[in-house]
Amino acid sequence: MAKQGNIQIASENMMPIIKKWLYSDKDIFIREIVANAADAITKHKKLADMGECAVSEDGYRIDVRVDKSAGTLTVEDNGIGMTEEEVEKYITQIAFSGAADFLSKYEKAGGEGIIGHFGLGFYSAYMVSENIEIFTKSYKEDAPAVHWQSDGESTYTIEDCDKASRGTKIVMHIAKAEKEFLEQAKVRELLEKYCAFMPYDIYLDASGKEEDKPVNDTQPLYLKNPKDCTDEEYLAFYRKVFHDYHDPLFWIHLNMDYPFRLKGILYFPKVKSKVELERGKVKLYCNQVFIADNIKEVIPEYLLLLNGVIDCPDIPLNVSRSFLQNDRQVQKISKHIVKKVSDKLTGLYKSDREKYEKCWADLSVFIKVGCLKDEDFYSKVKDIVIFKDLNGAYKNLEDFRKETAPAEEAPAADGGKDAAAAEKKEEKPVTVYYVSDEAGQAQYISMFRAAGLNAIVCDSFVDPHYISYIEYKESGKFRFLRIDADVDAALKADGKADEDADKKLSEEFKNALAVEGVTVKVERLKSQDVPAVINVAEFARRFGEMNAFYGLEGADADRDVTLVLNAANPVVQAFTAADEEKKKFVAKQIYYLAKLSYKKLSPEELQDFSANSVRLLNTFLG
Ligand code: ADP
Repeated sequence: MAKQGNIQIASENMMPIIKKWLYSDKDIFIREIVANAADAITKHKKLADMGECAVSEDGYRIDVRVDKSAGTLTVEDNGIGMTEEEVEKYITQIAFSGAADFLSKYEKAGGEGIIGHFGLGFYSAYMVSENIEIFTKSYKEDAPAVHWQSDGESTYTIEDCDKASRGTKIVMHIAKAEKEFLEQAKVRELLEKYCAFMPYDIYLDASGKEEDKPVNDTQPLYLKNPKDCTDEEYLAFYRKVFHDYHDPLFWIHLNMDYPFRLKGILYFPKVKSKVELERGKVKLYCNQVFIADNIKEVIPEYLLLLNGVIDCPDIPLNVSRSFLQNDRQVQKISKHIVKKVSDKLTGLYKSDREKYEKCWADLSVFIKVGCLKDEDFYSKVKDIVIFKDLNGAYKNLEDFRKETAPAEEAPAADGGKDAAAAEKKEEKPVTVYYVSDEAGQAQYISMFRAAGLNAIVCDSFVDPHYISYIEYKESGKFRFLRIDADVDAALKADGKADEDADKKLSEEFKNALAVEGVTVKVERLKSQDVPAVINVAEFARRFGEMNAFYGLEGADADRDVTLVLNAANPVVQAFTAADEEKKKFVAKQIYYLAKLSYKKLSPEELQDFSANSVRLLNTFLG
């Protein structure tokens, strides 16, 4: 006769609550049941190692079986098994009260949840089962096999049975609404997700023949000593785990035991598009059991652009996320990961600059975002942030500073006075010109080149944020000006200006042009071919861009637009002698040309410009 009993739990309504809270994550029951099976095997192995019981002759394995017609999903192990007392104690009492415990923690954590709902244990199988049976036989030789079953609500039965082999078989009678867990493909997917690296072979619907292959990899590469791993192995592991057919740029193998245990491999993927950052995946494991993807409490968010596997047995998992965030140990682990990443990057920069530059396009956004998010990371990698210059060479800002202001680097010739002077000079910010659009700013670039000036290319979406950050962090050291923000002294021709003539020219031009909000200024440029350029003050432009970024008004208002007329250009020189009508025509055309090299014309302006150009062609052909 089967014994019957009532399940003693704190709350009788646990089931509906668990179902409601964990609904989106109910998949995890598979992990909990299979992890229990693996634990039971580990326990047996330990006992055998200690000589407390016979060694398992046919090795260890876990079998998962789906039986659609019977409506069951079964997980069987040949681990330690349980006696009747143990079933009563561990399942009826501990598993159920453990679940109640978990729930109360869950409640305390408020909606923010517990990572991967780890720790719910055996009871989680009731999220998908209407009834569960356990058949188990302890390793203890004279203990009879036991059959337990319960609907998980309030009652259970327990009786002897004739299971002959050692171990535990959990038979889950899948609820009607959860039929998907009777699909082999679904179960395989879950095993591959949660159990990919569990330490014992897991078979799904094994045939008992030779060709059966376990679904998991019991010796994942990350557990190996980095010294024993080859590049091919790293690449093969990457492809298998991330299903990415683009090879990663390089990787970091984390392997430490003290003061905390941390193993894993972080891969730097190729960034597929410049603007849109594809989010990577860092999978967190605890003793080879998958917990969750992208846990930002452990791995800083900007590092989540990487792909990787991290196994961290020391992270407390059945606690709330906010607890994790403030946990000293977790902070140390997170810091360690950041340090390893920055060491790898600086190491590569120093040892293989060529490869580093090759990878730069893919690394740049990741590193800059990291700098913006984490000062600590910034201080570690700031010198390896490089920029392409107008000659296609890569350099960091310090190189650029030395190059732009060589005088500051000269050692003080004689004593304190000069040294003090040099120091004072050092405080003056170095102007760094940058290009945000190589094609769009081509005219400015060619003027720069002709004048022997250099600039850096800052064309990714983080660059505006990054340069503002540098100006703030390295306060007083750098001043960034977009190449069209002003006319550098080096672009101007030598010789003195005729102030009166320039004033007259700019006034006449302004009147002829008659466009609101445009300041006209006269300069003599080295490059005679260009009649005029547009300058927009750096600050005003950035302000406009920021407004655009936040969707505010005043975006793109082009405040502080200055039209710089080039008095060295023959057309400009001929301007003053022309009649009023011609002046208007020429002023507009010069303005449009300058604006075209700065940005697009408005539809009305473009129409006007085209009509003017046709008129010019007609006159030309006479
Ligand atoms: P936890 O695993 O966190 O202790 P569970 O609710 O998952 O909580 O399981 C309760 C207990 O039941 C386990 O600690 C273990 O002693 C026992 N148990 C569960 N599954 C098995 C199994 N497959 N073989 C042997 N013992 C098991």
